Amino acid sequence: MWVLIEHRNGEIEEASLEVLSETRRLAQKARCQVSALVFGDSGETFAESLAQRGADNIYAVEHDLLAQYTTDGYTTALQQLIDEHRPQTLFLAASALGRDLAPRLATRLRASLVSDCRVVEVNAQGELEMTRAGCGSRVYLTLKGKQGATQIVTVRPGVLGVGKPLKGRKPNLEPLSVNLGAEQIRTRVLGVSKVDREQLDISEAEVVLAFGRGLGNSSLVPQMQELARLLDASLAGSRASVDERWLTFDRQIGQTGKIISPKVIVCCGISGAQQFSMGMQESQFIVAINKDKTAPIFKLADVSVKGDLQEVIPEWVEQLRAQAAG
Ligand SMILES: Cc1cc2nc3c(=O)[nH]c(=O)nc-3n(C[C@H](O)[C@H](O)[C@H](O)COP(=O)(O)OP(=O)(O)OC[C@H]3O[C@@H](n4cnc5c(N)ncnc54)[C@H](O)[C@@H]3O)c2cc1C
Repeated sequence: MWVLIEHRNGEIEEASLEVLSETRRLAQKARCQVSALVFGDSGETFAESLAQRGADNIYAVEHDLLAQYTTDGYTTALQQLIDEHRPQTLFLAASALGRDLAPRLATRLRASLVSDCRVVEVNAQGELEMTRAGCGSRVYLTLKGKQGATQIVTVRPGVLGVGKPLKGRKPNLEPLSVNLGAEQIRTRVLGVSKVDREQLDISEAEVVLAFGRGLGNSSLVPQMQELARLLDASLAGSRASVDERWLTFDRQIGQTGKIISPKVIVCCGISGAQQFSMGMQESQFIVAINKDKTAPIFKLADVSVKGDLQEVIPEWVEQLRAQAAG
């Protein structure tokens, strides 16, 4: 089983570590090895932590054209490696990179792809079974890929968590090479600039501050924006807040909006209607602020604050400002 490792600025992305830990568990059941693929790096700095998270082998492909992610570069490299080594499965995080790369690669390889899985299991026949949401998250589908050929599976970040590090594992680092020329890559990365939290796609954000109709009117919106900055959170909301034009549609959570699973979500003045909740119920930690103690959102919340936003938000902003000022 192979896992594509994403790394940025010398650090492995947590979503890749989650996939790697889970692959270790599956590989034990399926009695096979786990190999972590690192592109655009010698792999040396990552080898130990990858071994601790379950990699038996670290395959590093150090190539100038793979130093930055491009769809063409990664697709071509992976196609060559998979054709040559024929892994049973390639796992990727269903991150922005994974969502871009996996369908392209699956098409090139004519391989089966199951994307955005929440659960992966090995069945009694030793085959992989993947479970993902379908029909706007109203049902869960359990799927099997085409057997006998490499399958591609992307795993939803933030659902499985990173397992405990396994001590005393020796990494087996092996360089691999690919035949890649600049003419095969149709895009060039001219620069990379960090998106500020307010512009970050809400499905990528680790911390989300969401608000709904309970905001009352637009006068609290600037305070919510400031609160988001102080919490290093992305702003999002219910359909009501989009209907009120306090937020743009790309920030809407729910059945007709986006399905997100951040590490933390704070829901302010949101009732928790089913069409909203289905878009955030897999968040790891849920805080809800509502003046109605019977609001359904409190059933999902890890921390429930019964209070009026008109009082709670200015007070919270004030305290965080004071903290930031030291
Ligand atoms: C087909 C369909 C698809 C839909 N898709 C979506 C979707 O994708 N996303 C979505 O969000 N909705 C969706 N909806 C709408 C959904 O049913 C709800 O109407 C919507 O989620 C309600 O938004 P809300 O919680 O902000 O507002 P409300 O339900 O009006 O809740 C406001 C909450 O704020 C609280 N409140 C009020 N004042 C204060 C205050 N001063 N301080 C603290 N709390 C206060 C109230 O107690 C209440 O709980 C859909 C509906 C349909 C029929």
